[in-house]
Amino acid sequence: MFKRVLIANRGEIALRIQRTCRELGIETVAVYSEPDRNARHVREADHAVCIGPGAALESYLVIDKIIDAAKQTGAEAIHPGYGFLSENAALTEACDAAGITFIGPPGAAMQAMGDKVSARKLMEEAGVPVVPGANDIDINDLETATREGERIGYPLMVKAAAGGGGRGIRLVERAEDLADAMRAAGSEAASSFGDATIFLEKYVSPARHIEVQVMADSHGNVRTFGERECSIQRRNQKVLEEAPSIAVTPEIRKRLCDAAEAAARSCGYRNAGTVEFLMDNDGSFYFLEMNARLQVEHPVTELVYGVDLVALQLAVANGEAIPDDIGLAEPHGWAMEARINGEDAYNNFTPDLGLVEHVELPTGPGVRFDTMLFAGLDVPVFYDSLLGKLIVWAEDRELAVKRLRRALTDLLVVGIETNAPFHLALLDHPDFQSGNFSTGWLESTFEMPPQPEDDPRQRTALVVAAIAASVAGSAPAAGKSGGGRTKWLQATREHAIGLRVQSGGGGWRRRDIASK
Ligand code: ADP
Ligand code: ADP
Ligand code: MG
Repeated sequence: MFKRVLIANRGEIALRIQRTCRELGIETVAVYSEPDRNARHVREADHAVCIGPGAALESYLVIDKIIDAAKQTGAEAIHPGYGFLSENAALTEACDAAGITFIGPPGAAMQAMGDKVSARKLMEEAGVPVVPGANDIDINDLETATREGERIGYPLMVKAAAGGGGRGIRLVERAEDLADAMRAAGSEAASSFGDATIFLEKYVSPARHIEVQVMADSHGNVRTFGERECSIQRRNQKVLEEAPSIAVTPEIRKRLCDAAEAAARSCGYRNAGTVEFLMDNDGSFYFLEMNARLQVEHPVTELVYGVDLVALQLAVANGEAIPDDIGLAEPHGWAMEARINGEDAYNNFTPDLGLVEHVELPTGPGVRFDTMLFAGLDVPVFYDSLLGKLIVWAEDRELAVKRLRRALTDLLVVGIETNAPFHLALLDHPDFQSGNFSTGWLESTFEMPPQPEDDPRQRTALVVAAIAASVAGSAPAAGKSGGGRTKWLQATREHAIGLRVQSGGGGWRRRDIASK
């Protein structure tokens, strides 16, 4: 096995990969940008190399800096995590040239799947159903696009061949909006991915987003690990995932896994990958795309299949065969993951940043929290809003919902807003509880309840933090964004003059601390 692995990523996924490495006795090398200097992934690594300023284009996305860091520290392999360079074939080539093992698929398989149009063609050849659409659309040829649009029918999706992370996708309801959507998707794709190639897809609705975890080794084994249900989405991005899916029977699971295996075999895939499908109400499904990397939501699969996917990635990259007894059984129990984002659920989910003044992390039976959070973390502006993933396992779905609800109420974050109130409201929704949702449900049907005038969780958090500050002898520094820190001042002031506590009836009343 490798002695030392460089992790070319940050945040919760860098920490998650480090943990498995530590268990296997592998030393880790962290890379970090200047604003990430105090991040947990830096502190917990055996070695750490600064690779430049905050902008990812000048640090986490610079292949030469990553390769240099690996050479400098004697790392034999590079794990790319997700996002950043994870699906960049140039990194696999640079690794090959430097004699470093890339923990992921071969560059050719990555390229074949990274382009959604080429992936659609491969799937058609492999006999896997794809979403009806038109593959080769010239962004300037409105005439052909209009003709193809008529054939496919409306509504339809204009999508970027290089798209990812929900970007480069436009829904078109009527033919007269096609030209605008093509321009918008094309220019978003050009600026995000440097490639304006687009294609058209029928809009499948209502549909569920169902994806299959795949692992392939260099001995011809392709193993699948059932499905994940990822239909709870905002702006085409997942916010809560579960395994298994309430809509998938053992018979459908078998068909999904066979299709995913065919997808992996069609491109000579190796290592971990995910094949995404859209599934109709009647259980027929269509290939959407293949993500050639470890996925954000991989932990729900780990919990119901009893595997460590990162350990398998390392073994497979090291040339070992996937053990015979892994991934063959049906899923055991139920797992659910809430993506905890730094964003204000009551304010249209606008991202929130800055200093995390106090945190209490959920724990206890069946709870796993993969997170970069700690008190003192200054969430930088440069990266996405994912702070962590709160994952639970329970015997069945109903218990998993209850457990996730409990874990969410145990989570306290002071200093920045998180979307935990959203997750709590979601878990309480009858449609969610009955499993009656599709990819459009969250945005079309779910409504965020109004912010409680006095949110008991937030109140508790502020009180706890205020007490901590007063024990420490002073209120914490005002921080740079004065306005955002007023909660602190308010909380410490209230601590001094009296605390609001929740009354038994659910309302609020003010109690003088001195009278207690
Ligand atoms: P998943 O299907 O695993 O949820 P996403 O496609 O949402 O994956 O992206 C995973 C992560 O990678 C997210 O944090 C997202 O912000 C980031 N990401 C996605 N595409 C890109 C990209 N092209 N460049 C940089 N980061 C990206
Ligand atoms: P990304 O690479 O950004 O993850 P995907 O092609 O996987 O893009 O699509 C992301 C999401 O957008 C899907 O999970 C689904 O909710 C929606 N979507 C994409 N294509 C279609 C389609 N043809 N019909 C309906 N919804 C779609
Ligand atoms: Mg996708």
